Amino acid sequence: MLEILPLPALKDNYIWLLKHSEREHVAIVDPSEAEPVFDYLNDNKLTPAAILITHHHWDHVGGIPALTECYTIPVITPALEEVQGSTRKAAENDSIDLQEIGCCLSVLDVPGHTAGAVAYYTDEFVFSGDTLFTAGCGRMFEGTAPQMHTSLSKFKALPDTTKIYCGHEYSESNLRFASTVEPDNTAVQTRQEQVSELRKQSRPTVPTTLALEKQTNPFLRCEEPSVIRAATEYKQAELNQPHQVFAALREWKDNF
Ligand code: ZN
Ligand code: FE
Repeated sequence: MLEILPLPALKDNYIWLLKHSEREHVAIVDPSEAEPVFDYLNDNKLTPAAILITHHHWDHVGGIPALTECYTIPVITPALEEVQGSTRKAAENDSIDLQEIGCCLSVLDVPGHTAGAVAYYTDEFVFSGDTLFTAGCGRMFEGTAPQMHTSLSKFKALPDTTKIYCGHEYSESNLRFASTVEPDNTAVQTRQEQVSELRKQSRPTVPTTLALEKQTNPFLRCEEPSVIRAATEYKQAELNQPHQVFAALREWKDNF
């Protein structure tokens, strides 16, 4: 059995720890800072086995220097991005065998938020970084709308039961936008209530499942008539392709 534990870091980042339930080793996903990781590992007598990085932004790699000063472990980073301390590059179709954890991860290239962003997945879960968020997606800092739309389609092709572990706690603001795009979407309304309850107790709203995201995430719903209608109204232009609907939504959200 695998366990995935959240370590809240910085303002709203999540560092994820991937652990075999009966072993002491963990993989560390996107260590924005080292301190919460050191604390958790020491308190729980755990040993790091690897660091996995989804993209080069400072709030995902900041902890690498301090962690690798203490532990000699592989640092797996996107093939197309420069990350200090990298020991292994990961790209689509690679498999990353984490033997100490008893888990083999596959890699997806998901450019758009950054030019070389990757996601790590199994048939049960995915670490989506800042590409796919709960009820939203990342800003396009280094990519185009068609690229980002294609990347999101790769997530959409995973099994519906896939649990999505993203890089930030953004559910509340993302759902505010989702409910503006689709005011009549009852799945969004229900999810908003759950999320607001969880956040009142300072609990994470991540992970979600792909099934839930397909119902509540406007960026995964670019082919739904209600979303097409809202995006068309926002742009005041005819949007013929799903990636044009996506681009309109992303622009709308950037100005929301
Ligand atoms: Zn980022
Ligand atoms: Fe980030």
